[in-house]
Order: sequence, then structure tokens, then C-alpha cells
Amino acid sequence: MGSTGSIGRQALDVVRQHPDRFEVELLTANTQAELLVQQAKEFDANAVVICREDKYQEVADALTDTKVFAGMDSVCDLVRSDNVDLVLTAMVGFSGLRPTLAAIEAGKPIALANKETLVAGGSVVMDLARRKQVPILPVDSEHSAIFQCLMAAAGNRLKKIHLTASGGPFRTWTREQIASATCAQALQHPQWNMGAKITIDSATMMNKGFEMIEARWLFDTAPDDIRIVVHPQSVIHSMVEFEDGAVLAQMGCPDMREPIQFAMAFPDRLTLNNRKLDFPALGSLTFEEPDFEKFPCLQLAFDAIRRGGNVPCAMNAANEAAVAAYLAGRIGFYDIARLVEEAMDEVSFLAHPSVEDILATHEETFAKAREKV
Ligand code: MG
Repeated sequence: MGSTGSIGRQALDVVRQHPDRFEVELLTANTQAELLVQQAKEFDANAVVICREDKYQEVADALTDTKVFAGMDSVCDLVRSDNVDLVLTAMVGFSGLRPTLAAIEAGKPIALANKETLVAGGSVVMDLARRKQVPILPVDSEHSAIFQCLMAAAGNRLKKIHLTASGGPFRTWTREQIASATCAQALQHPQWNMGAKITIDSATMMNKGFEMIEARWLFDTAPDDIRIVVHPQSVIHSMVEFEDGAVLAQMGCPDMREPIQFAMAFPDRLTLNNRKLDFPALGSLTFEEPDFEKFPCLQLAFDAIRRGGNVPCAMNAANEAAVAAYLAGRIGFYDIARLVEEAMDEVSFLAHPSVEDILATHEETFAKAREKV
């Protein structure tokens, strides 16, 4: 799901390198019809969904050997197909929630790249996955790292997670400089080449806040036991500390195909034509405290998960509206955090939201934030 985005394209590159191992059944895309068609042809997909219904004809006309559908409901239907063995969720933002729930409901293992699904609906998603005994394999590099460290720990309980952060493009900037940063500057990520939404989330460090919440759900860890550590080289993808103080780290060059492939081939490891680590060439690895003053979104994420219920959902919805507005040049950088904070204060609190509550909170908060923009 989300095959034309950054993660989707890299996942297909993994398939391209291991055609004996993976077969593409279904591809879904939001708007990029032309690329979807090209992918369907190259990977001989059985079916495709273009979410934007006005692009249906363009895709249908271009594909003769592939079934073509349109709209989000089709995504939710088709992920249940008997031919699907694994669903890679790589859509942008909250839109990933419904199809991810549909896939879990149908008992499909999930390779989860869409972190907003867990940020907004962590409790309902994890409850359903537990009931259906569906594994959720992390694709986010940090969570893949934590998962790999835990695999090496032979069942020992983790004491603390050290979640590493590159610090984003504004790590060394002052608050004043950041306040007047252009969108183009915010889109210049120093380590990772990603889609626009997540790149802005990295600049505000909301992305790291999201990842803390994602880790809380995936590894059933208290937020207080998750420590953010800025590590500009992005070589250590995250670390796990145990009762005795021993720390395991997982390392690699910043290349998303590594965690994507690990989730797709789990529990095996396959060959990958990526850059390998050269330790003498690296010289040194450095670590810093995160700056909660310069990056208020990071604090907001901790506040949201501590308040719990539907507050993280409201945070995510306001952030989605705010980042879209920032990308369109309509608001300033720190307006993103302001809109998020207001949304968290104004949401009608629900301690144990259902799926319907989560969908409603998202809709309402998103609309309200957009109105404020
Ligand atoms: Mg990440």
C-alpha cells in the first residue's frame, strides 16, 4: 500500500533484487497514476488500486492484464484477498489506518511503515493484532533496530530504549534561524531521502515524537523508558538497554531498503546491493541531548502519549493539516507546533476511543486545524 511513495519504490527495488522470493499481488497508490501503471507492468501485479477516483480511467486504459480499482474502500477490500501473504503499509499519514485495520482483520501479517497508524490508533490496532494473532513487523529503521536487538536478547526483558534521531536539517540552527526557515531548507534532510511529509516531520522532530509513540505500542514500553538521543551520523539506528546495563545497538548505512527487506524476508536475511559500513572511514560516532525548546513538537508528543486516549490522534491530525499548510507556504515553521498544541488542548477527551472515535477525532481535528490555517 503506497507503492509510488519513497518506501513503496524502495520495497519494489527489494522485490526486483529477489524475484525468486517475492511476488507482487496488489499495488495501491494515492495519485501517481503513471508510476503505478509502470510498476504494475514491471512487476506483473494481479490488481492495482488508484485511490483518487478521477484517475481511474487513465490507469484502466493503460493496463490490460491487471485488474484496476479506485478508492480507499477498494484498498480495504483487496488487502483481504487470499493471494496476499504480507501487507506492506507505506501510505502517507492517517490514511493508512483503515486499510491496515482491514488487513489485520483478515489475518494478514503487516510490515508497518505507516507510523501514523500507531500514533493515532495504537491501542485499537494493537488490540486487534493481538486478538487476530497477526505479527506487526516494523519497517521504520529505528523500530527495526529495536526489534533486531530484542531478537538477539533471547527473551530478556528490555529496560530502556535509546531511540536515535539524526536531529534533522535544523539541528545546529538557533530558534530564531529556524523560525524563518524556508520550506526548501526544511526539505533538505542531512541523512535520509524521504517523502515531503516525513521530511518536514523530521525538521520539527515530530517524526521522533511519533516514533517514540510507535515504540511505546510495538514494544509495550512506558514513554518514560524511551530516551531520545541525537546521533547525527544515523549509523546506530537505535539501541536497547537491559537490566544489567548492557546495551545492544543495531547499525547500518542509512538505507531504508535494509529494514524494508528485513521485514519482508523475516526471519531470513537476504543479500542487498547497498553500501556497507566502513568503520575507520566513519572515524567517530557522536551523541547529543535533544533540544526540546527548539523542537517543541517532541515535547508535545510525550505530553500526548502521557495524556493518552484520543489525544495522540488529535496531535497527529493537527500535524497533518499543519504540515500540508507549511508545504504550501501558508504558515511558518513554529505555527506547526502551535496548531498541534491547540488541537491537543481543544479535543474532547476520550480515554478509551473505539475505531469510530479515532476516525471522528481525526476528521474533526483536521478540519478545525485547517480552518485555523
Ligand atoms: Mg525512522
